[in-house]
Amino acid sequence: MPKDFDHIVIGAGISGLGAAHFSNRRGRKTLVLESSDRIGGCINSQAFADLGGFWTEAGGHTCFNSYGNMLTILDDLGLTRQVQPKLKVGYSLWKDGKRRKITSQLHFFEAAGAIPRIFKAPKEGRSVRDYYGEVLGRRNYQDLLRHAFQAVICQPADDYPAEALFRRKPRRKDVIKAFTFAEGISTIPRAIAAQDGLEVRTGQQIAEIQPQDTGFSVRLQDGSELSADAVTLAVPPDVATQLMPADLEAARDAISGIGMSEIETFVLAFDKSDLDVPPMAGLIAVEDAFYSAVSRDFLPDARYRGFAFHFKPGTLSPEAQIERACTTLGIRPDRITAQARVSNRLPALRSGHGERVAKLDAALAGSRLGVTGNWFIGVSMEDALTRSRAESDRLFGQG
Ligand SMILES: Cc1cc2nc3c(=O)[nH]c(=O)nc-3n(C[C@H](O)[C@H](O)[C@H](O)COP(=O)(O)OP(=O)(O)OC[C@H]3O[C@@H](n4cnc5c(N)ncnc54)[C@H](O)[C@@H]3O)c2cc1C
Repeated sequence: MPKDFDHIVIGAGISGLGAAHFSNRRGRKTLVLESSDRIGGCINSQAFADLGGFWTEAGGHTCFNSYGNMLTILDDLGLTRQVQPKLKVGYSLWKDGKRRKITSQLHFFEAAGAIPRIFKAPKEGRSVRDYYGEVLGRRNYQDLLRHAFQAVICQPADDYPAEALFRRKPRRKDVIKAFTFAEGISTIPRAIAAQDGLEVRTGQQIAEIQPQDTGFSVRLQDGSELSADAVTLAVPPDVATQLMPADLEAARDAISGIGMSEIETFVLAFDKSDLDVPPMAGLIAVEDAFYSAVSRDFLPDARYRGFAFHFKPGTLSPEAQIERACTTLGIRPDRITAQARVSNRLPALRSGHGERVAKLDAALAGSRLGVTGNWFIGVSMEDALTRSRAESDRLFGQG
């Protein structure tokens, strides 16, 4: 029986939109179903209409010229020429109620002694604490690196697999090293979703995915049903476990129990003239209620400054979060010009994750189901797209 679509993708974060882009480029009729009312997932350039559209990144904020799959998509969409360089502003530490230089926590002699190990120490199968404790020294890890890593992955870093952080990738010389867009990183999901031949539906609640002839039927909670030759799950691992079709029990078993880190992100904007703090990329918190704060100072606005504070879940009430963010920036809460609250989720990977992925891939072999996300190779946008590309090649052939 002819199907409604060649490819249905569940989830409109960068993994799902990337998977949809790759199949659309191969001429496959592609539909993306997203449960929330917006696309982009963790990419969320939070714009304030009352501030003339001034935006601050509530999630992913930086792309690099080593993001090869991302750059292929930007080339396809004619966006590579629109990238904006990020101003070089640095991160500071927030420790014991004060902003401090990163170097204040660095033990130089220990780092110098450890440097020869950087090139020798194996990364595979080791935790972030073990690996980076060896290559830069235990005290450097304890006092500085663990906080910097926590700031990046918004969760405790000690037991995270070392190979899932910072992989060396070739750089594209014709593109600026670190970039964004004039309207933020959300430009990318918006442009992918807007292209011809690719349909995105938001606010879609999926009840069940069932095998059907050679493909799948996707049943929605409103009772409607859609069919496709291939389906790609591009959702967090707990959701992928729930939505896994009944005949792929081994795939479900392989991924059930992968943890998630919940992040309470608080975005706030100020009139520039009200703030005394110097321009900064952001703050790395040392033993505080937030993991990190990321500023918009990398692309200065004439009138406003914005910050996203990534709080640990359930630690402070919303009012206390406002107080903490404002104390950190040395400003009174009544000077906030706009604010927003965002829930972010990132996978909490643990050692042995590679074996889970290998089991999942073995269970998916020969199936028309793809599974992608930021929980395979690593958490960056490019890691997510690398998996989406590989799954697209498996489902539709190299192209
Ligand atoms: C604060 C923060 C800062 C970051 N900074 C950077 C950075 O600077 N550079 C970088 O490369 N990466 C960064 N990252 C990581 C990167 O942004 C994310 O890993 C990546 O965007 C995740 O994309 P994804 O599509 O895999 O998942 P998500 O973005 O989580 O998308 C999953 C989508 O699935 C949808 N969904 C969930 N359940 C269902 C369902 N039942 N049915 C349908 N849809 C569903 C969700 O609503 C969501 O839209 C950052 C992440 C965070 C949180």
